[in-house]
Amino acid sequence: MKAVAAVIQLARKHLRDLPDNVACPPGCAECCSGYEPFVSRTDVQRIADFFGIRYEEAFKNYVIPRSSADGFVVGHLRKISEDSADQCIFLKGTASGRHYCGIYEARPHDCREFSPIGCDDVDTSLRHDRKFAPGSPFSPKHPPSRPKTRRARRHR
Ligand code: SF4
Ligand code: SF4
Repeated sequence: MKAVAAVIQLARKHLRDLPDNVACPPGCAECCSGYEPFVSRTDVQRIADFFGIRYEEAFKNYVIPRSSADGFVVGHLRKISEDSADQCIFLKGTASGRHYCGIYEARPHDCREFSPIGCDDVDTSLRHDRKFAPGSPFSPKHPPSRPKTRRARRHR
């Protein structure tokens, strides 16, 4: 385990030297369009807690229902339009061309596990050595139906 930890530390230290298809350049989120992250009940509840709303409300507003054989997957995240190739409803920063996840801390398991290794969609106009400060998190249009628990200000 120590050897694995050392390799990870080394990779982090030299993150800026890595090729584009091994580490995501800050501001890239090409995969947040076209890709439809599946969500479980736990994912939906996490998003509901993030906004301080009920599960049912989060499900209705942000999820396209889709059943799975084992019942684990309850749907996938909505896009900003009916077009499945459009961007995720929670993606922010589009106007600047430097994107970030508007619910970073509450993003679904599918997004957390997404690996940039071998990614062909990387935005090569972005550089690894440029700092990027993400803006405000996604703001729901509806008022919270119960107290907020937490908010995020991080990028993908
Ligand atoms: S939830 Fe966040 S990380 Fe996942 S697809 Fe949407 S914007 Fe991207
Ligand atoms: S996985 Fe690929 S498309 Fe997604 S943010 Fe990383 S480099 Fe960009």
